[in-house]
Amino acid sequence: MKVVIISPGRKDIPVWVSTFKKHNPDIEVEVYPDDTNREATEFIATWNPPQDAFEKYPNLKVIASMAAGVKHITSKKIPENVKVTRVKDEYLNYDLSYFVLSLVLNHIKHIPLYFKNQLENNWNRKMYHRPEDITVGILGFGNIGQAIGQLLQKNDFNVIGWSRSKKDVEGIKSYTEKELGNFLNKAEVLVCMLPHTPETENILNAELFHQLPKNAYLINVGRGAHLNEKDLISALDSEQLSGAALDVFKEEPLPENHPFWNHPKIFVTPHTASITNPKTIVPKMLENFKRFKNGKDLKDEVNLEKGY
Ligand code: NDP
Repeated sequence: MKVVIISPGRKDIPVWVSTFKKHNPDIEVEVYPDDTNREATEFIATWNPPQDAFEKYPNLKVIASMAAGVKHITSKKIPENVKVTRVKDEYLNYDLSYFVLSLVLNHIKHIPLYFKNQLENNWNRKMYHRPEDITVGILGFGNIGQAIGQLLQKNDFNVIGWSRSKKDVEGIKSYTEKELGNFLNKAEVLVCMLPHTPETENILNAELFHQLPKNAYLINVGRGAHLNEKDLISALDSEQLSGAALDVFKEEPLPENHPFWNHPKIFVTPHTASITNPKTIVPKMLENFKRFKNGKDLKDEVNLEKGY
């Protein structure tokens, strides 16, 4: 079996190659663009492939995303009948959940304010909130969104979730697509954990912010494409939103001169909510390639019509 890794510029490619080899010493692993005999390639693992990359493989069967998100694949031309899979990983869910929990706790306990105040020898105190007083809304209540919601709930937060289809998660009220307004007007902290699709692009905009309770807090760990950046600045200026923690951006790395860097109400992190670990992802990819060879359904297959 052979797999080609397509992810130009990625620094940890040698780790992915050695992890594939470790789990299956017989597998041939090549790295684009130095790979050979493209007619023989059926399996690709990729993150941010070049626009025309897949067209170079006439016998391609499965494209495995090296991340949970797949817009980097679905925005490219995918040859007919080629299947796409994505990362679903309990470690990723765990890491993301704790990242979001930290951000929500930082927000309700004013930790960023005290970091700033310390630099100014400033002893001012501000009343904090308790988790049980706060409702956190998870926009995109899917695989990762539910893990985040359950961890927040364990930590005494009230949690609600929004998704296309109704979810049955104990103690968490699930709202569907048409109930967005009812969901938003309760979300004092809004966590965006949506996939990037044509329907979700720029969903975090002025109209949505105005449906949140006054002074709501925004956490975007979905994708930068979800956020209308100008609308966010206006909502912060008008105090419709009290602040925002952003892990993902329209352009990454965030450009040096971007206004978000120095905005007093915005906390910027470098797309680090969770980082895919080849140790846990590669065995799942190999299992899927084997399943394909044996004519079985793939696990974690992307619905290309829905785009996630
Ligand atoms: P899932 O597919 O499991 O969940 C997505 C959820 O969003 C589903 O519940 C889905 O509803 C809902 N949804 C999608 N489109 C709509 C819509 N138009 N209206 C209402 N609900 C919608 O994905 P994951 O939870 O695994 O991942 C989500 C995203 O998180 C990824 O696509 C990626 O972009 C991002 N991500 C970010 C990371 C980071 O480090 N910042 C790391 C990992 C992922 P339904 O269930 O009904 O279909």
